[in-house]
Amino acid sequence: MSAVAHLVDTSASAEAEQTDGFHLVIDALKLNGIETIYGVPGIPITDLGRMCQAEGIRVVSFRHEQNAGNAAAIAGFLTKKPGICLTVSAPGFLNGLTALANATTNCFPMILISGSSEREIVDLQQGDYEEMDQLAIAKPLCKAAFRVLHAADIGIGVARAIRAAVSGRPGGVYLDLPAKLFSQVMDAEAGAKSLVKVIDAAPAQIPAPSAITRALEELKNAKRPLIVLGKGAAYAQADDLVRDLVEKSGIPYVPMSMAKGLLPDTHPLSAGAARSTALKDSDVVLLVGARLNWLLSHGKGKTWGEPGSKRFIQIDIEPREMDSNVEIVAPVVGDIGSCVSALLDGMAKGWTAPPADWIETLRTKREANVAKMAPKLMKNTSPMDFHSALGALRTVIKERPDAILVNEGANTLDLARGVIDMYQPRKRLDVGTWGVMGIGMGFAVAAAIETGKPVLAVEGDSAFGFSGMEVETICRYNLPVCIVIFNNNGIYRGTDTDPTGRDPGTTVFVPGSRYDKMMEAFGGVGVNVTTPDELKRAVDAAMDSGKPTLINAEIDPAAGSESGNIGSLNPQSVVKKKK
Ligand code: ADP
Ligand code: MG
Repeated sequence: MSAVAHLVDTSASAEAEQTDGFHLVIDALKLNGIETIYGVPGIPITDLGRMCQAEGIRVVSFRHEQNAGNAAAIAGFLTKKPGICLTVSAPGFLNGLTALANATTNCFPMILISGSSEREIVDLQQGDYEEMDQLAIAKPLCKAAFRVLHAADIGIGVARAIRAAVSGRPGGVYLDLPAKLFSQVMDAEAGAKSLVKVIDAAPAQIPAPSAITRALEELKNAKRPLIVLGKGAAYAQADDLVRDLVEKSGIPYVPMSMAKGLLPDTHPLSAGAARSTALKDSDVVLLVGARLNWLLSHGKGKTWGEPGSKRFIQIDIEPREMDSNVEIVAPVVGDIGSCVSALLDGMAKGWTAPPADWIETLRTKREANVAKMAPKLMKNTSPMDFHSALGALRTVIKERPDAILVNEGANTLDLARGVIDMYQPRKRLDVGTWGVMGIGMGFAVAAAIETGKPVLAVEGDSAFGFSGMEVETICRYNLPVCIVIFNNNGIYRGTDTDPTGRDPGTTVFVPGSRYDKMMEAFGGVGVNVTTPDELKRAVDAAMDSGKPTLINAEIDPAAGSESGNIGSLNPQSVVKKKK
């Protein structure tokens, strides 16, 4: 007799109350404080979604799994609890997998729960409905992957998934639930006992005192110290400690994109607007939850000045991050709250602020850069260019610092990151480590649901296309999301042509597209704007009303550069073809 047959054979205890796989999954999630699930319904998880909703879990249904997955991932970033994405088997699972891989790359805690087809048929490759060995496919793309075959193991399976997602370096976890599992029956009391409430899912990781002493020695000897705050520092929710570290040490800091607002970008010690000088001329750099990956030029090259001019200290929860690109002279392994708190204790025993000329150099550079940018942001031109449109949005966020800014695109991303100052932690959500397009509407939905704050999604017209259908989701759940499309008729610019004259150029879209009409189709508000003043008024109206709104902002098709700020990553052909 198989284990499954045993579970459904209830003749011996016909009176005993029973439970099943559906209920055990729901109970396990609820027991662990999961309040919201993002997903797309279908075989075999349609009833699971319905039952979750009936049991009080909020279920947000999307139009495509990748967007649901991105929503779950950013919910994880915002809350430090794993964001849950629920999908159907094979194709739905694969759609969600992109988001799971992206979450893992970004260190966001997320669990992708996918229904799957019958193991016996899948393993013999006999051609089941949506046949696919999902567990094997997920494994290399996430932090951990589990499959549950018996109802009695659901509690343990969910517990392992949660702990794997949030402990240590957070990341994506895959949980495979075969269709048969949901209707497996077991004794309700035994079922309840099988559930596991995860205790201390992300335990504090205290740094070694010797590592703290070593780091402080390096900082004390520095003439031109710099702190780089990364999104790990934002994730850690140790906001007061991070602010104290900067202010008590007097060390200037540069925030990575999603760490903007951890301290207000207008802070006197912010060297964000003097980033190049700060990276190039510093002598000791303290990385706080930031990796020395491509976004920081791997810690070497022109960006970092003379070879050998830099000593790096790194705070990270992942020991293997140390020395990943260059030598780390003072590794501090632990969670950011514990590490920063230990550094502050050490500094309290004696500390001298860094030399005044270094602070002054950065301040002067920053003021010069800000002054150079200012006139570009104030032009009330039509058609708008990126700067004049962003100037308007910069004011919006200044006036509404608790709004959440979602941002993707090429020029729309790179320029917005520099222009729009952030004032509060975890208010800027963007393309992250991969620089991936398509996070926009998923992030916007989850940001609205998880925080209850207004969301401003600033989207390139191309970037928006990857998740644009979710405007229906935004309208359906009546979320306070205002989308602004920077519409320059194309990818990078709207001016490309097909040299043969046959087709449109590869990077252009329909000229004069009216994305605002998409929102109207679902009962939201659509507005078309051509000047920064109109743009500002339309966003203010959207934010005041809280109504789902899409603003089509007409941008000069000739504005924008290839690949935004990272055009140098494009390979160039060296072959000259004869005509
Ligand atoms: P950014 O792109 O902003 O530089 P990264 O994603 O490169 O940020 O780096 C984030 C780093 O933060 C990762 O190396 C991750 O291990 C680390 N991290 C995440 N959460 C914590 C935490 N609670 N404590 C310490 N380090 C953390
Ligand atoms: Mg564009």
